[in-house]
Amino acid sequence: PARITTPERTSEDADAALRPKSLDEFVGQQAARENLRIFVNAARSRGEALDHVLFFGPPGLGKTTLAGILAREMGVGFRATSGPVIAKSGDLAALLTNLEDGDVLFIDEIHRLNPAVEEVLYPAMEDRALDLMIGEGPSARSVRIDLPRFTLIGATTRQGLLTTPLRDRFGIPVRLNFYTVEELEKVVSRGARLLGAPTTSEGEHEIARRSRGTPRIAGRLLRRVRDFAHAAGDDAIDAGVADRALTRLEIDRLGLDAMDRRYLTMIADLYGGGPVGIETLAAGLSEPRDTLEDVVEPYLIQLGLIARTARGRCLNGRGWQHLGLTPPAGSQS
Ligand code: ADP
Repeated sequence: PARITTPERTSEDADAALRPKSLDEFVGQQAARENLRIFVNAARSRGEALDHVLFFGPPGLGKTTLAGILAREMGVGFRATSGPVIAKSGDLAALLTNLEDGDVLFIDEIHRLNPAVEEVLYPAMEDRALDLMIGEGPSARSVRIDLPRFTLIGATTRQGLLTTPLRDRFGIPVRLNFYTVEELEKVVSRGARLLGAPTTSEGEHEIARRSRGTPRIAGRLLRRVRDFAHAAGDDAIDAGVADRALTRLEIDRLGLDAMDRRYLTMIADLYGGGPVGIETLAAGLSEPRDTLEDVVEPYLIQLGLIARTARGRCLNGRGWQHLGLTPPAGSQS
């Protein structure tokens, strides 16, 4: 079963129900929001399509949500797909030729496009054109088809995963950051209102601070805490109710779960606090390297529990402290 604190989308997430529908409704990411508002207004007033946008940052921070909001604010259609789903260049060509003037095409996990498909995207993004090969052998020739004006919105976990030519074709790169506890309190209280779940502000705070800086996790924890509260016959989700439920779900005071603690404990117990290479950790924990890099580590780094160095991962003083351990004498932390 998926970890309850995985920031990645799972089948039971009712993402759509909690999704904000406008830039004003969208909580947090203030700098990104203000910039996007300016670009939307400028494009609208010139009657142009919005420039291509790349969202990057850990899963669950609102990339898909923002893409939908941009289409809505531009008053254009929204088509969503994802990198691994577009198998052949013909599939992408079909998607592009079916767009209407000004539409947004959203490609999630855009770093996972296959290279042949990515080639088709370059002229499409740059010249709004599709280069198609007609025929085979000596009589083969290339024809150029004009495409409607469109905005490509790509999403990826790390900007560095994209090839340089693809990255360079996005006029508006936007990094999304982990949310503060105050921002997540707003996400939780908004979610509670939409779900009709009574909460106190202390209850909202308790869920917010254990949500790994991630709105998707906040929404999920809120639903699970509500279930516990319901089963226990509690009227409202207050701090005590939230704490008991989250503790039973093995989510600790910092929002870390069993997987995070196994990761930290492995560096402490087996490698004296590091440095230890990511491949070694992935093998030891039986987790794919990508999962560790995209999902587990960013939040541990954000909290200052670990550091990523050229020689490998190291446990910081705070990491030792969180485990209730003392760093060995002479260690760098
Ligand atoms: P991503 O595409 O980055 O993985 P999503 O856009 O799918 O993330 O968002 C995941 C969930 O979190 C959705 O249910 C969405 O409603 C909620 N969410 C994300 N960002 C916000 C926000 N700023 N305010 C309120 N809810 C949010």
